[in-house]
Amino acid sequence: MSILVHKYGGTSVADEERIRNVARRVIRAADEGHRMVVVVSAQGDTTDHLIDLARRVNPWPSDRELDMLLAVGEQISISLVAMTIEAMGRAAISLTAAQVGIFTDDAHKKARIIRVNSRRLDDELAAGKIVVVAGFQGVDRNNDLTTLGRGGSDTTAVALAAALGAVRCEIYTDVDGVYTADPRVVKGACKLTQISHEEMLELASLGAQVLHPRSVELAKQYGVKLEVKSSFADVPGTLVKEAGQMEDVLQVSGVTSDKNIARVAILEVPDRPGVAYKVMGDLAAGNVNVDMIIQSVSRDHINDMSFTIGEDDLDRAMAILNKTIAGLGAKGVVFDRNVAKVSIVGIGMKEKAGVASAMFQALADQGINIQMISSSEIKISCLIDRERADEAVRAIHEKFFTGGVQVAREAG
Ligand code: ADP
Ligand code: ASP
Ligand code: MG
Repeated sequence: MSILVHKYGGTSVADEERIRNVARRVIRAADEGHRMVVVVSAQGDTTDHLIDLARRVNPWPSDRELDMLLAVGEQISISLVAMTIEAMGRAAISLTAAQVGIFTDDAHKKARIIRVNSRRLDDELAAGKIVVVAGFQGVDRNNDLTTLGRGGSDTTAVALAAALGAVRCEIYTDVDGVYTADPRVVKGACKLTQISHEEMLELASLGAQVLHPRSVELAKQYGVKLEVKSSFADVPGTLVKEAGQMEDVLQVSGVTSDKNIARVAILEVPDRPGVAYKVMGDLAAGNVNVDMIIQSVSRDHINDMSFTIGEDDLDRAMAILNKTIAGLGAKGVVFDRNVAKVSIVGIGMKEKAGVASAMFQALADQGINIQMISSSEIKISCLIDRERADEAVRAIHEKFFTGGVQVAREAG
């Protein structure tokens, strides 16, 4: 019998009726002949509420204690889903990450899965049970609870699918697939029937929250068939595929924005070898990921260095940098939270000139200033004012998908 993994996000398990909908869908798949593993997220806004709760007792909770609290949300969901399945007359069991054996490193709040033990899952499935697993959580080598980063339940689902050799991992959510832009922001966004791992990974990393970036990486690495579908409608979703198997290639397959970033600038850094290495090395040692880096042209052997980081990492980064710059003899370090990164992604853009200029024109037409630019073969990102991010996404989407600057589809 084949194993199938379903994952249901927070909106899909937000109340009793929705939990019953999930249970019915899972039972239907079991009736079609699959052994079912179901990964669920915390209900609705539970994770946000838990973070607020923590901050009420301590504005700077330690990462370890925060993980201990956040993992609770998923535990409520798994027990409710398992009970609902049982109430419908089927055998089910809920399991936490510790009970399954989902082992991670000890990077609290953004832990990475190192190993999954499939024995308990195999045993429960062999006993004919529907297994309901808590997403988002793991345990480190000291048995401490960790979490995988916001949206991390998708990654739990793909990791379990990989460990079990599942036929497919289906991510059920409140949209019916991956769109050319967030449908909440762009009314005319179009659903993609398929997208390559590379594009999906970029879109997810650049702010499209529909999939957790690491889930896409794992799906590619372990050859897990990954599909995004609606929890509420029975319509075809979006398949995440190998680039070589795509039926057609888009110049731009999506537009996205990330508002959870901050810009940091180190002022008047001495212009000598090893400075960038020291700054970036110290940040990496503190587990801070750096993006978009710009160094100004040297004047009198001094220059400024600016870069973007995740807003969640800002406090940690500033603490690190204040020490680093003292050692380097730089003048100071400043930050700006009022920024967002808007990006376009598409594997077809590497063969076409003019994609970047069309993006810049869309921003210029709205009078939106570009503060920084970065690009790779398949993406272009611009740093702009945060409050104009949605407007920018709409203008860029209009340019590429409705304005007709480039043809959306080409033979692959
Ligand atoms: P879940 O709780 O099911 O994990 P998420 O809120 O994490 O759901 O992800 C689904 C949301 O992602 C959608 O409601 C949508 O607003 C947002 N989203 C952002 N970018 C995209 C995109 N390109 N395609 C589809 N949804 C997107
Ligand atoms: N509950 C977690 C979050 O809100 C994980 C998830 O939903 O995937 O980020
Ligand atoms: Mg999600």
